[in-house]
Amino acid sequence: MTTQETINQFGKYVIANYGRLPRVIVKGQGCYLYDADGREILDLFPGWAVSGIGHCHPKVVEAVRKQVGELIHIDNTFYSEPQGQLAQMLSERAFGGKCFFCNSGAEANEGALKLARLHTEKGKYKFITAQGSFHGRTFATVTATAQPKYHEGFMPMLPGFQYVPFNDINALKAAFDDEVAAVMVEPIQGEGGINEATPAYLEAIRDLCDQSGALMILDEVQTGVGRTGKWFAYQHYDVEPDIMTMAKALGGGMAIGAMMARDKVAASLVPGKHASTFGGNNVACAAGIAVIEAIEEGGLLDKAAEIGQYTQDRLLALREKFPIIQSVRGRGLMIGAQLSVPGGAIVSECLERGLRLNCTQDTVLRVMPPMIAEKEHIDKAMEILQGVLGDMDS
Ligand SMILES: *Cc1c(COP(=O)(O)O)cnc(C)c1O
Repeated sequence: MTTQETINQFGKYVIANYGRLPRVIVKGQGCYLYDADGREILDLFPGWAVSGIGHCHPKVVEAVRKQVGELIHIDNTFYSEPQGQLAQMLSERAFGGKCFFCNSGAEANEGALKLARLHTEKGKYKFITAQGSFHGRTFATVTATAQPKYHEGFMPMLPGFQYVPFNDINALKAAFDDEVAAVMVEPIQGEGGINEATPAYLEAIRDLCDQSGALMILDEVQTGVGRTGKWFAYQHYDVEPDIMTMAKALGGGMAIGAMMARDKVAASLVPGKHASTFGGNNVACAAGIAVIEAIEEGGLLDKAAEIGQYTQDRLLALREKFPIIQSVRGRGLMIGAQLSVPGGAIVSECLERGLRLNCTQDTVLRVMPPMIAEKEHIDKAMEILQGVLGDMDS
C-alpha cells in the first residue's frame, strides 16, 4: 500500500480524532523510525514517551516473543508469574507499595482517584489538582486535568474537583480543607510544558495531606520508569507519595499502566471495588520486566541523566544563536525549550529533514529522547534543528 492509500483508508474508516502527520511508519529500531517510503527519522519523542528505551528494544522483543508462545492472557481469577514479578520489581525500586495493573495512564489515575475516596474517611471526597496538569481523557481524569481546552464540549465535568495554580503553596493551603481526599500532581508537568514542581511545593502537599489524612497522589505516567534519571521523579525530592501512577514507558511499547499504593492504602482495594479485564496481562508484564532489566543492565538511569544534561547544554548553546529559544528546562530526558513563537512549523520542518520532536502548549518544544540515545544522536538532532531555525531566521 502506498502512503496515500493508507491515508485514504484512514479517511474512510478511522475516526479522525488525531491530527496526524502525513507519514506511515512501518518500522522502528532504537532511536530511529522508518516510513513506508523508506525514509529514516531520528525519533526524539518516541511513542509520546512510551518507547522510553527506544523502539523494539531487543530485550523487550525477546521477552514478548517468549511470553506470547507460552500464555498470552490469563484473567485475574488466577495468579500469574509475570504480574507478581513485575509488581515486586516496581515496589523494590519505589517506596515499597503494592501494585494494581491496568492498561494506560488514564486508567491508573482513575484507579488512584477511586482508591483515594475509598480509603479516606467519610466526608472526604474532594480532589485538588494543578493548573496545566494532564491526567488523562476518561471523565474523572479529564476532570482532574486542569486545562479548560480539554473540558470544552464535555460539560459538566465530574463534581468534587478543585484547581490550584501549580507550585503555589498559598493557593494550595487556601483550597485545602477537611473534605479533601487527595491532591494529585505530576512531579514534572509533561503535556503542560515541562514544568518542574519545586521541592517546597511537594513538601507542602505532603505536610497538608499528613495533617488532614488526605492522600498524596503522584502522576508519574510520563516522568516514571527512568526518564528523569531516577526510577521515579519523586526520588529527586524528599517526599514519598501515598499513591503513584505510571504507564507510558513501563511496557517498552506494550500497553500497560500501574497504580502503586502504600500497603495501608492498598488494603482498602478489596475484591469487588475495582478491576481491569486486561490489567496485568502476561505479555505486557513480561515486557515491563524486560524494560526494568534493560535499564539496569545498560546503566540507563545514569545515562538518562548524562545525555539529558548534554541535550540541555546543546539547546542552551542554540539559544545563543537563536533568541526565539527563551529558556531550556527539565530533568533527565524530559526537556522543554520555551519558544517566543509557536513551535508547530519547527516540528514539521524538522520532520521533513528527518528529525521527530514534539511541541506542547503551542510554544514549548518538547525533546524526550529514549534512554538509549547517545551523544551522536543528540548532535545529529541539534544539527537538523539548527538548520531549521537558521532557515526560518532568514
Ligand atoms: C499521557 C499521560 C496520561 C494519560 O495516559 P494514557 O495512557 O494516554 O491514558 C496521564 N498522565 C500523564 C502525566 C501523562 O503524560
